[in-house]
Amino acid sequence: VDVSNLNRQLLFRARDAGFSAGHARNKAECAATLLPWAEASPHWYGEDQEAVDADYDVILALANERGARAALAARQQTVLMHATTSRSWQAQLHRHVAGHDDCIVCRLPPDAPALACSTQEVRMEDARRTDAAVPPLSAMAGLLLAVELARLQLGNLLDSRHNYTAVELSNSRPVTQRFVRRCTAGCATRHELSVRQAIDASSRWRDLDGGLGG
Ligand SMILES: [Zn+2]
Repeated sequence: VDVSNLNRQLLFRARDAGFSAGHARNKAECAATLLPWAEASPHWYGEDQEAVDADYDVILALANERGARAALAARQQTVLMHATTSRSWQAQLHRHVAGHDDCIVCRLPPDAPALACSTQEVRMEDARRTDAAVPPLSAMAGLLLAVELARLQLGNLLDSRHNYTAVELSNSRPVTQRFVRRCTAGCATRHELSVRQAIDASSRWRDLDGGLGG
């Protein structure tokens, strides 16, 4: 946890960034302390074989360090979602349900410019750090994802065919956009229905994969 995380995250406190404690804490371990049922790995995804081999009901691809998105897409997970912010004052929610939605690799190609945090340069007396954020955007992205998880639990996740939602907060009145995004022609990420269901056999949500394309 870095000090720049404190004004844009709901999870972290000053002590997590090293104030008073003397050392910063690992983000995943911080999050796990707030989720009593959660386990955190201190390693990168791909370097912890136990985490790679484990079965998951849903995957939230909230970071892309070391090509994590492509690695997660290859798992053929039935339900994968993520939320992010953009430089155009947007909080974005991305749904990727196999058989209904596009894959995360088509939505955010690895070689495309990455969606960056909502940062702006600010003038400071001490110019060692010039990283500022728009805190409501990150909070909005988190809330959009929390609502989507609630819809998943209530059985309403696929009530809407829209798999991309963006809330733009550049004006006094927020503007919401919703779209249906599809895989690019020739996408090789998604396997056939039978294959991906065999790979993701233990997910409690595997029946959501209707094999309707994607
Ligand atoms: Zn695709």
